[in-house]
Order: sequence, then C-alpha cells, then structure tokens
Amino acid sequence: MIPHKAETFRFDGDEGAVFCPGATLEDMNSLYSKIHIYANKEHEIDGISYYCTISAGIAMLGTDTDNYLGLLKCAMSALEASKKKGKNMCTAFTPGLLQSNLHIMELTNELQRCVMNGMDGFSVVYQPLVKSDELGLKGAEALLRWYSPKMEKVGPAEFIPLLESNGNIETVGKWVLDKAFCTCKKWIDRWPDFVMNINVSYVQIIEDDFVSYVEELLKKYDLPARHIVLEMTERYFVTDMPTLKATFQRLQDIDICIAMDDFGTGYSSLGMLSQTLADIVKIDRMFISLINDKEHFFNRSFIQAVISLCHSIGISVCVEGVEYEDELDTVRSMSADSIQGYYISKPVTPEEFEEKYWNS
Ligand code: C2E
Ligand code: CA
Ligand code: CA
Repeated sequence: MIPHKAETFRFDGDEGAVFCPGATLEDMNSLYSKIHIYANKEHEIDGISYYCTISAGIAMLGTDTDNYLGLLKCAMSALEASKKKGKNMCTAFTPGLLQSNLHIMELTNELQRCVMNGMDGFSVVYQPLVKSDELGLKGAEALLRWYSPKMEKVGPAEFIPLLESNGNIETVGKWVLDKAFCTCKKWIDRWPDFVMNINVSYVQIIEDDFVSYVEELLKKYDLPARHIVLEMTERYFVTDMPTLKATFQRLQDIDICIAMDDFGTGYSSLGMLSQTLADIVKIDRMFISLINDKEHFFNRSFIQAVISLCHSIGISVCVEGVEYEDELDTVRSMSADSIQGYYISKPVTPEEFEEKYWNS
C-alpha cells in the first residue's frame, strides 16, 4: 500500500512513520484510508480473529515546518490529537495542536510545582445539598479548586485528569479528604445530621492504603463515618466493578456511603441499578435541562424512572444541576431525596457557607 518513493520507519512498539516526498495532503489522506480499511478488516491468525484500529497524524514539510525534527514533532501532535478524539482516525496537523500540547505541558508542570509546594493555590469549596421535602440543609459536596497566577483560570474538569495522569491525584485526593473531613467535623456540631460528599478518583480508590487512610482520618477528627459519602463517577461501576467491589464493601462495613455520580452519562443501564453497590445515585445534570419542555419527554421520564427504580430497591436519589425554580418544583414533585444546583447555591468557600447557613 505504501508508494514506491516512500520510506517507512518504525519507532517503538506499534508506532511507525511513512515519509512520502512530493505527496500532497490529499495523497496522504488517501494513503491513510487504504491502510485504515485494511487494518479494520477481520484478520485471522492461528485460527483466531483479530480486528485492528489505526490512528494517524499528517504533517507537511514546507507548510507545517521546514526541518525534519519539526516534522516529527508536528506529526506526533497530530497523532496525539487522533488518539484523543477516540482513535482509529487521521488528523492533519494545525498550529493550534502544538499550542494545546504546550498548554497541557505548562499546566502539568505548574500543577506539579504547586503540589510539591505544599498544595499552593489549591482550595476546597462546598456546594449545599438540600432535602427535597422542606429544602432543609442535608449536607454539602466538597469540590476542588486551583488557582495559579501564572495560568488562566482552569476548572477541575480540566486539571483533575492531568493530576490523574501525572500521578499527583493521590496526594491531592488525600488532601481534599483531610480538608473535607475537618470541615465536616466542625459543621456537625452545628447541624448534627450533616453529611459531607467527597469525590474520589478511580486511581485513588484502587490504592492499597485508601481504606486505611479513610479510617485514619475518621479517627483523627473523631468523626462518625455515617457523615461521609464518597462519590465516584458512574462508568467505573460498570467497567471495573470486580476491582472496586471489595473496597466498597470495606467502606460500607464501616458505615461510609457510596454514591454513583453522573448517572446516565456512562455505560450503565437502568437494569444494572438492581446490582449496584451504591447507596445513593446522583442523576447527572444533563437530564434536568428541558425537563419542563413538552417536546422533550425523555428527560422527565428518565428522572422519574430512575427515582422509582432506586426507591424500590432502597437507593436514595440526588438530582444535580437544578438551576431554575420550575425545575426545582418538578423534581420535588417526583420525590427525589436530595437536590443540588445553582438554584439552591453555587459552590462557596467554607466561610461563605457558614455565613449563609449558620443562622438558618
Ligand atoms: P461533579 O462531581 O459532577 O460535581 C458537580 C459539578 O457541577 C461541579 O462542577 C459543580 O460546580 C457543577 N454544578 C453544580 N450545580 C450546578 C448547576 O446548577 N448548573 C451547572 N451548570 N453546574 C452545576 P466543578 O466544581 O467544576 O467540578 C467538575 C467535576 O470535577 C466534578 O463533577 C467532579 O467530577 C470533579 N471534581 C471536583 N472536585 C473533585 C475532587 O476533589 N476530586 C475528584 N476526584 N474530582 C473532583
Ligand atoms: Ca460529584
Ligand atoms: Ca455529578
């Protein structure tokens, strides 16, 4: 499939390069198509069928760069982009790609520096959760924030995956747990039934010492475990349940509740709710939008179905992302157990939280 005048190189593992002098972008795209079609077909080796995906990046000498090292760098960036978009595709290099890689590298370095520097610039904010019936305070979700004067504002959805991939999430996650446990201890003096929800990453929870660290913190703050809920995003409940089962069980044995976060965004179905180990299901905020729109019955029916199903098996339900009064009314009429969203309050600092709720 490779043109005669082309040269092929192998890098390491399953990565290679094809260098085609004089080729146009169109030529390169059609070369990719050929290889793609071939690779995606069923292949049989020793009587076993295999399917193979292939990701690629194209860089043009003379247009994207004027030297060979640059060509390699541009091609690599384009390849990375294909992998990030879901693999099995080809991307042509654009200068924006290099910039976004550079931005990620700068962010990663700055995050690393801040973590090493005693969690410089990190803080935890708290978003209240209210009971659906009388809208009284039920607890809060601890949410991580990070600010560096060297960087533009970045949200947790952007920096947490970077912490996960550079191995810092363990340190940061432990720090969040410590902060949130400490705040919780203080707030249960004011609200005896207060419950603190804390997000945990998969990378963090599979560490050998995770449960013992949680136990250590409960001791350190003399905090009864029933005030703690650990939230984990839905997709791991399906994909890695065997790995997580024992850890969840150990946490539940000491009275810590597990919440399945962002329900409806991952791979689970309503059917698997009956087998889940979660004590609480948090319905993702995408379902609340259009809940009162007559043309979009699905979201409303979905929320209603999840609430009914969960209640029938003793799981409580929190609806996230309630931003407007009419959404609140609808969710309350469906008897969700708890509600969270900007309509109640945005996440706030502990001081603001106390100011807002201390005397209520
Ligand atoms: P999440 O766990 O689903 O947290 C809820 C997110 O929705 C928060 O975003 C919150 O600010 C936002 N939110 C709450 N109510 C509303 C609303 O009414 N409308 C809209 N549009 N948004 C609302 P945030 O703080 O940016 O956090 C994003 C995600 O980052 C979190 O999603 C969670 O997955 C992750 N995260 C945050 N803190 C931590 C942490 O300490 N550890 C880990 N592992 N992940 C964290
Ligand atoms: Ca959460
Ligand atoms: Ca969520």
